[in-house]
Amino acid sequence: MEAINSSVNLDALNKAIDEVFYGEIDSTILYYLQSCVNCKACEAACPFTPTSLKYSPVNKAEVSRELYRYRFTVWGRTVGRFVGGSKKYLSLSEAETMFDYNWHCTNCGACMFVCPMGIDSGALINLMKEAAFKAGMVPKVYSDIANLEVSGNYWEIDVFRQAWNSLISKMKEAVGEVPLDKKGSEILFYASLYEAFVYPEVLINVAKILTKLKKDWTFMSKPLGVRPPIGMVLGDKDGALNVMKRVYNYFTDISPKYIVMTAGGFEYLSLKYTMHETFKVKPKYQVVHITEFLAKLYTEGEFEIEPIDKVITWHDPCQLGRRGGVYEAPRILLKALSKKFKELPSHGVNSFCCSRGGGGCGVPTLVENLAKMLNISISQEDKKFLDNTLLPLINAGEIKADEVKKIKAKEVATGCPVCIESIEFSLNYYHVDSDVLHIINLLTDNIKVRNK
Ligand code: SF4
Ligand code: SF4
Repeated sequence: MEAINSSVNLDALNKAIDEVFYGEIDSTILYYLQSCVNCKACEAACPFTPTSLKYSPVNKAEVSRELYRYRFTVWGRTVGRFVGGSKKYLSLSEAETMFDYNWHCTNCGACMFVCPMGIDSGALINLMKEAAFKAGMVPKVYSDIANLEVSGNYWEIDVFRQAWNSLISKMKEAVGEVPLDKKGSEILFYASLYEAFVYPEVLINVAKILTKLKKDWTFMSKPLGVRPPIGMVLGDKDGALNVMKRVYNYFTDISPKYIVMTAGGFEYLSLKYTMHETFKVKPKYQVVHITEFLAKLYTEGEFEIEPIDKVITWHDPCQLGRRGGVYEAPRILLKALSKKFKELPSHGVNSFCCSRGGGGCGVPTLVENLAKMLNISISQEDKKFLDNTLLPLINAGEIKADEVKKIKAKEVATGCPVCIESIEFSLNYYHVDSDVLHIINLLTDNIKVRNK
């Protein structure tokens, strides 16, 4: 991928590689670095392998292994330096290859689940992403978005403020009162600016459900970032840390029992686990995806679901499902909604990644639109970078589109904004006559409160 060529600063990269390798390796990463038996079982699981075998998990992770061996293994420090397989630093072309590999991994976790050694290649690729970010090797459009989030300046942008305020107004039209920042509410309904842009109707529907169920809930008078903590997927650990402090302070200030969110991408794991692990705190609240929250209430008998007569299915978002362990909750709800619920051929722990979220990048046209709204100019290099991300989406999308076609699902429900974008792209691209939508949009009108 040539797009980053002029941005490579090898001195900065070498310094960053040392910082990451001498500062970040813990026992888990060490195990991943040391345990590969090169069986290649991970190849078929990766959504980027259909584009090229060079994107196989083991091949992408080899970059970090070479740098590790040079520093920490006897073989790598002796013979390896002469016969290959160990490297102190990367050459310009190797740095470009590393950059290319970084953006061909969504951290979906599929490789880890098929690996006989349980190796999470995504974690090793993330190491390189972190080094690359420290060295300024990140598409400018993404670093601009990350900077907006970290600085808090997103709230100074008219279009953002208007989008959020218009969301709150529409919620009010739909449900009457919308309590804002109400401390001690049972439920804090959490959403990001990104969600307000891409699916405001989903957020309004959640407000309708919470009101219908007579819950004590509150919403946020302003968002806590563009898609907090976006630094987690860009390699910007320090930026993510700052943003998580902001989020954690807000969560503890409101001090609810539940924090309910509609996004099941990286933000779910980051705000449920990473944030608290990083700050070494045990929260008094529970962070839950809306499907977990509703499945619990449904199981406890708080509402019924009026059935529909349609073939529907569920795409497991990788971060919510494979990495977060939330498989059952959406299925409880969808099976109650339709007797014709069908599983996709690859589902649950084997769900095939949509190839975008969790560390990959957005659908190129959507990234460009978002940048336009933010008044961020897209350089020629970034344009080339974004264009290059399209082919893997098309290739992985064919597998997803074929799966939907095979089970003849009329509606594909899921629980992550980026999964919706990418699957929608794939279904359109391959002319599959099915819709993809957030599970909330399927459920809202069919939730009937039980008379107690
Ligand atoms: S499946 Fe695991 S052990 Fe086999 S090549 Fe991939 S990372 Fe290595
Ligand atoms: S985490 Fe997912 S995208 Fe990344 S290498 Fe593994 S299978 Fe591929």
